[in-house]
Amino acid sequence: MLYPHMLAPLDLGFVTLKNRVMMGSMHTGLEERGDWARVAAYYAERARGGAGLIVTGGMAPNPEGGVFPGAAGLYTNEDIANHRLVTEAVHAEGGRIAMQVLHAGRYAYGPDCVAPSAIKSPISPFRPRELDEDGIEKQIADIVTSAVRAREAGYDGVEVMGSEGYFINQFLCKATNHRTDRWGGSYENRMRLPVEIVRRVREATGPDFILIYRISLIDLVPGGQRFDEVIQLAKAIEEAGATILNSGIGWHEARVPTIATSVPRAGWAWVTRKLMGKVSVPLVTSNRINTPEVAEELLEGGAADMVSMARPFLADAEFVAKAAAGRSQEIVPCIACNQACLDHTFQGKISSCLVNPRACHEIELNYLPAVTPKRIAVVGAGPAGMMAALVADQRGHGVTLFEADSRLGGQLNMARVIPGKEEFHGLVDWFTGALERSSVTTRLGARATPEMLAEFDEVIIATGVTPRDPQIKGQEAHHVLRYTDVLRGGAEVGARVVVVGAGGIGFDVSEYLAHQGQSATEDLTLWKKEWGVADPEKAPGGLAAQGPQPAPPAREITLVQRKAGKPGKGLGKTTGWIHRAALAAKGVRMIGGLEYRRISEAGLVVMRDGQEEVLEADTIVLCTGQEPLRELVDGLTASGKSVHVIGGADVAAELDAKRAIDQGARLAAAL
Ligand code: NAP
Ligand code: SF4
Repeated sequence: MLYPHMLAPLDLGFVTLKNRVMMGSMHTGLEERGDWARVAAYYAERARGGAGLIVTGGMAPNPEGGVFPGAAGLYTNEDIANHRLVTEAVHAEGGRIAMQVLHAGRYAYGPDCVAPSAIKSPISPFRPRELDEDGIEKQIADIVTSAVRAREAGYDGVEVMGSEGYFINQFLCKATNHRTDRWGGSYENRMRLPVEIVRRVREATGPDFILIYRISLIDLVPGGQRFDEVIQLAKAIEEAGATILNSGIGWHEARVPTIATSVPRAGWAWVTRKLMGKVSVPLVTSNRINTPEVAEELLEGGAADMVSMARPFLADAEFVAKAAAGRSQEIVPCIACNQACLDHTFQGKISSCLVNPRACHEIELNYLPAVTPKRIAVVGAGPAGMMAALVADQRGHGVTLFEADSRLGGQLNMARVIPGKEEFHGLVDWFTGALERSSVTTRLGARATPEMLAEFDEVIIATGVTPRDPQIKGQEAHHVLRYTDVLRGGAEVGARVVVVGAGGIGFDVSEYLAHQGQSATEDLTLWKKEWGVADPEKAPGGLAAQGPQPAPPAREITLVQRKAGKPGKGLGKTTGWIHRAALAAKGVRMIGGLEYRRISEAGLVVMRDGQEEVLEADTIVLCTGQEPLRELVDGLTASGKSVHVIGGADVAAELDAKRAIDQGARLAAAL
């Protein structure tokens, strides 16, 4: 049997889960829009794909506990009816689903937020109101009521969110709980809230209802819990009636990345392993697990009884089914970029997935057989072109994919060489495999000409971008390189570097040049040292007393832009801080508000605050954005061809793989 540990059933006494794979909680943004048919379709597809137990995105127990004003909850009979659409759809596919109850406490983005003490979080503008005894009782009662309503709505269970620095977690840590009554002070008092919640939820929902408690195993904030306290809590939560303990890693305000792509795969399973054997309920491990091989290895090695994957189920609803059928290489890999999932959530948009634009769009975006199969040429095998070719092929069109380079991938080939972006290798491999399995005719090393395209009914131009010429005086000098020379060509770079342009690529190039030796993403011990992570048994909250200890930089780097303010503001909502912190740790100077005067032998001559200054450098790397590359378009259009332009060839600004893949998929779905 393939993946014998991952695919083994899990007997919970009153119910048996068909395998050890939990689809972890992710917000979709559809619930707030009242789009319940889409919510149901989204979860049903994941149940059909074999997830052993699905946990929904967090539902607020009351308005003050909602992550943002208007966050979805289970308040009315109409809400219950809506949720029933979801549970029925999942059950019809043979799946099981638990609803997460999420009280945000001081993380609630609104003036009515409440917490154990009136201490503002560094990531929220709102100071919470301190709850009195009655207020605490009300919060518990509301959480219990949510669980009871979840049962009425047909859920198989609930997950009580006790980690990530939310309400319950805020009671557990001294830094956020300054109370002196029976809810604060000693650890027994601080853990009273979670224990009471679990005890009362169990009492109210009955013995045959799955009750998952997500326990914060390593807070990663100053004043975080000691591991002996975590064990004490885990035992008490088990005693109070939990069925399963799920791992929570780090508070949202922690300055240590916990799920970003630069976190090593399964990089936090060692913390779950520390709790194994201390309780008898099944333990779930989580964070940066994205292949069946990693999941199997963790379970086989005794790190946990079950694995949770959230984002991988956005990337591929059929994760488990493909693994079980021996087709694991066909699983679309989650690259942990957060670009279409968490970044969307934090911008109030509907979640989706960079590698799978159908995620949360299961009703409106489908790749149905084409009524009239056509001959389609796709020019350019970057993410936009490859996705368009695959979807068009899946629909029954005859597709030829032309690529001037000798390999597939386009700009993805530059991303994959950056330390911390190793997941891009897997994405290029997946595209390569998917194209091999398809009927697409791939022509590498073939620069398409109008003559070669004459025979096709439709031409999709996905020729990508060319670096923008910043026209800085002196840029022809021998010590000036373009980012493509560095990332593609391996050009020699000196010891002192000025990187001109601080967009995504300027940051990537700086990371690449600052780095030497093994990538910390591939070496957990090194990575923990770089970010100051310690064993929570020895350091409360898991923060090393000596702080982060990054490896010394390979070069002295200055990253510059013309815009005023600190570079990096336009990076990903949930990951930008990690890129900024990683470069700062490597001593990279980041300067905004410059005017570029000229490039001299000594370096880049700039105007800064009205003064001329030389930023000394042995090498200057231009990362000044990109322009669309679409030479073929005008000629083809003039000759009467049906031409479509996608990806960077369409709009180079804000070009990224998310838009490219989405545009490629949507165009091919419509042809
Ligand atoms: P970009 O984000 O548009 O940044 C271009 C940079 O060049 C800016 O810092 C801009 O800042 C500067 N610039 C623009 N025109 C200039 C000119 N004429 N002269 C001098 N400087 C100029 O482009 P990119 O860095 O090439 O990235 C392209 C896209 O790839 C990004 O939008 C991003 O979505 C994607 N990408 C994403 C990631 C990621 O981590 N998610 C990583 C790499 C790439 P000033 O105008 O202030 O000087
Ligand atoms: Fe994973 Fe990125 Fe998709 Fe989110 S958007 S699920 S992180 S691949």
